[in-house]
Amino acid sequence: MSFSELGICPEILEAIEVLGFETPSPIQERAIPPALDGADILGLSHTGSGKTLAFSIPALESIDPTLREVQVLCLAPTRELAVQICREVDKLALFLDGVSAVPIYGGASFGPQLAALKRGVQFVVGTPGRVIDLMEQGELKPDHISMLILDEADEMLDMGFQEDIDRVVSLLPAERQTLLFSATMSAAIRKLVDSVARDPQEIAIERPQLTVPTCEQIVYEVVFSSRIEVLSRLIEMGRMKRGLVFANTKRVVDDIVDGLLARGYAVDRLHGDMPQTLRERVMDSFRKGNLTVLVATDIAARGLDIDDVDTVVNFELPRDPEDYVHRIGRTARAGRKGRAVSFIGRRDFSLLARLERFVGVRMQREKVMTGTQVEEVRRESLVDEILENATTAAELPEELLDIDMPADQLLAAMFNILVAKTSRELQPIPEDRPSKFARASRPAEDGDTPVEKGNDWSSLQQSVTLFMNGGKLLGLRPKDIAGLFYNEGGAPKGTVGDIRLFLKHSLIEVSPEIAPQLIERLGTCQICGYEVNIREDKGRPEGTNAPMEREFRPRERRGASYAGRGNTNFRRERGDRRDSRERGNERSERVFYDKFSRRPRRREW
Ligand code: AMP
Repeated sequence: MSFSELGICPEILEAIEVLGFETPSPIQERAIPPALDGADILGLSHTGSGKTLAFSIPALESIDPTLREVQVLCLAPTRELAVQICREVDKLALFLDGVSAVPIYGGASFGPQLAALKRGVQFVVGTPGRVIDLMEQGELKPDHISMLILDEADEMLDMGFQEDIDRVVSLLPAERQTLLFSATMSAAIRKLVDSVARDPQEIAIERPQLTVPTCEQIVYEVVFSSRIEVLSRLIEMGRMKRGLVFANTKRVVDDIVDGLLARGYAVDRLHGDMPQTLRERVMDSFRKGNLTVLVATDIAARGLDIDDVDTVVNFELPRDPEDYVHRIGRTARAGRKGRAVSFIGRRDFSLLARLERFVGVRMQREKVMTGTQVEEVRRESLVDEILENATTAAELPEELLDIDMPADQLLAAMFNILVAKTSRELQPIPEDRPSKFARASRPAEDGDTPVEKGNDWSSLQQSVTLFMNGGKLLGLRPKDIAGLFYNEGGAPKGTVGDIRLFLKHSLIEVSPEIAPQLIERLGTCQICGYEVNIREDKGRPEGTNAPMEREFRPRERRGASYAGRGNTNFRRERGDRRDSRERGNERSERVFYDKFSRRPRRREW
């Protein structure tokens, strides 16, 4: 099918030709004709499917160029996306005289955005918070808006924009066309669609598999300074025999290589500044198996064609999801098994959520292996190696034959020497301290289930973080939250771990088995007289310092008594009047609620 068969006007067809697009993508082919006919659309399609064009074309065609009023309003979760959509709209509107789009987002000054609105722009693409501000100020007039587009609606809901979207929709004319796009379908999306669209046509586009199922995708939360040690531990445990480690910059590549060389590993680097001959030599050495680890930047690794990499490590997460896919595509090739290990820091949760949404896979969260666990695995693999080599033909050296000592004593002495000779001294890192959650879940006195031994450390220490949209501003204390979880939520003893209180939200670590029950029972609940919501934590949105706070809108502008953000259900009279820098510096009160002593204790690191 060609674009000209979709009923698109000649001006836009000409622009598409300039853009060089030859055939419509599946979402364009299926969404454009009904949208041009005026139908509401629910498009289930992922980033990269061409959905921007799919909604921008009908939107542009719905605009009356002689009317200098906002006629299309598109809501997007982030400023980056808003800007990107506007760029695409402007390219499509190249031959549509007098039609233009403007991005509207928080965190930027109002001036240029107001000027664009005053100029009579017809297509507004904005983040929900700033759109409400401008609507409430009377600067963005909804009267002529005949089309509402919600792009990446699932992400907007994840970011807590439900209430803001509802508010925007309530201000729009009821007589309008609505196009909603989401990468995923959920009950929340269904509810949103039901409330904003009328009898929408549902168009679902299969997403291509971006990563292979034989590639295990694991995430470790580990501070930057511990990462070389954790990498070494992966090597020590025999978990990385031929690994490819990615970093975002040449400097970090050099630091990793230096750190690993200092620990005695066979490692080399690959970065853009190296002459081609040297790069080829390094790649050849890696191919031949002379290197345990090759450390590279994304650019340098382009064209690196090596089949049997067992582990890819993202020492830092790439900013671009496409890079993540390219990186991990280096392992689990040709039906083999492989692992992609990503190190993340506290600030990376929203980026991680974005990557997960892009690849359509939830990565496995694991706790960093402690020194003791590394030792255990190392000893086990030495025993395995001994057993593999034990044959009846093996002979003792003569010097040992005459020794009058029981064989097991002799063996024990040899084993200890072997351990000492093959072990690298592990360096302590903060992650070695037993997680307080793990300590709480370990039955101290009552001795129910014993703590399992072995190298499956993850199953014991794994936890799920729950998000509650109430925190210090409500006067909450850790014990209130623990009480709620144990009493109202019915959490069994020892299943609630770290409780971190922030100004307006809290993060609570719970045992994975109990998380679904807690979310179900406490999804909407009362604590200290306030109504709050509890759900699984999806991390912070991008580009903000303040946890879970998106755009900062001073209360004075809102006019209403509502001063909370996100999907908070409670109303307060007190506004958050601190400036955004101050809010950005907000530190969490990280306390651990000890169920036995019933006393909050402060984290030590
Ligand atoms: P989107 O899913 O809207 O983020 O689009 C992903 C990318 O595909 C963008 O860079 C578009 O410019 C490009 N694109 C959109 N439609 C087409 C098409 N029909 N043919 C080729 N590229 C396209």
